[in-house]
Formats: sequence, structure tokens, C-alpha cells
Amino acid sequence: MAVKRVHERTVMPFPQELIEGYRAFLIGRLRHEQDRYSGLAESGQSPQILVIGCCDSRVSPEVIFDARPGELFVVRNIGNLVPPYTPDGAQRAVSAALEFAVQALKVKHIVVLGHAQCGGIRAFAEETGPLSPGDFIGHWMALIAPAAAEIGPRGDRPLADYLTQLEQTSIVKTLDNLMTFPWIKTPVERGTLTLHAAYFGVATGQLSVRDPATGKFAQVATDDYRRIFGQPRF
Ligand SMILES: [Zn+2]
Repeated sequence: MAVKRVHERTVMPFPQELIEGYRAFLIGRLRHEQDRYSGLAESGQSPQILVIGCCDSRVSPEVIFDARPGELFVVRNIGNLVPPYTPDGAQRAVSAALEFAVQALKVKHIVVLGHAQCGGIRAFAEETGPLSPGDFIGHWMALIAPAAAEIGPRGDRPLADYLTQLEQTSIVKTLDNLMTFPWIKTPVERGTLTLHAAYFGVATGQLSVRDPATGKFAQVATDDYRRIFGQPRF
């Protein structure tokens, strides 16, 4: 009889909703994309796009971009952040994922996907828990500080406006941090790799992309969005 490991001495079974979700995947997507899966298993993955997103359960890049298997290489962390290039021998998950995507897979695009109502950014802005200095998350969210410094104190700004500005400025700072990696900077300067900033509105479902010429985030696919959601509801 197999000996249970410490982490297996739990009382709760594997979540039923995951079994049900897998069942739906099985009869839906897997059945339709079986050839694609077996092809990818044989040839390996070659995604052209790396997405850096937030862990937030509402902003899955594969769902938002309706991505098929093998299309997106996704890195998710709290606040969709990238620490600056620091080759110090520490185990750096984000840097390792970037290195693999850029150096081995040779992706053509890196998209930093931020979002509205980001809990990590709000907690940083309001200096509320669980961001105590000893915690992992507090230390991690300190990466927001340069963005907060750039937009200045909140002052009279409504909180929602301030948070949106902080969320979007933080995405741009993440692009700046990406450029501190020499093997990202070089292909960007050569034009073989492009960095993009995008922002998803959780409540509205609107996707905005930053125009490098103006520095402003502008909604994309507005025609379709208006066609589907612009009509009177009744
Ligand atoms: Zn978030």
C-alpha cells in the first residue's frame, strides 16, 4: 500500500469543479483540437507571443485573446511585474521564463497585460494588508514604487482615476524593466522583438493598447465592441 505523503493527508478531495471543467474541455476543445495537440507534442511549441499577466482569476490571457494551444507563452504574477535584470544567482522565476521565451523560443512580441481593479496595486496604493514588509507580497509589490513616484501623490484625484493611472504607468515601467535585460534590449533595437502594453477593463471587458506615439492607451476592436455592447439593452 502506498504511503501517503504529508501534503496528501488532507480531508478534501480533488475539486469537483475542476473535474467538471476537464470534462467540458474533453468533449469540447480537446476533441476539436486533438490533431493540434498531438502535432505540438511532436514538433514542440513555437509561440510567437509572450504575455506577462497578473495572477488575478478574472484576467486569463488565454481567455481574453481566445488563444489556441501553443499560441501564447504566458507568465503570470501579482501585478504583472518584471523585476529589473539582476543576474545574482538567485532563483528568479520571471527572469528564467523571459530567458526561455526570448532566447530559446525566440518570441517576436512581449505583451504586458495589466488590468483594472488590480488588488495588488490597490493594496500598494492604500498601504493596506497583506503587504507587511516581511511578507513576500509586500516585497514584490515594492516594484510598483517607481510608477507611484512618477505619477506623484494622489492629491485630489478620485481613487479610481489614480488607480487606473498607477496601473497603466506600472505597465510602462515593466516595459522599461524588460529593456534592462541585454538579450531583450538587443533584439528590440534590431527590430526583431517588440514590446507592447495592454490593459483589460474587468468590468467593461474593454481592451486597450498603448500607442507608443502618444503614450496613451486606446481601446481596440471598438467596432465589434460597440456592435455587441453599444445597443440599448432593452
Ligand atoms: Zn492584478
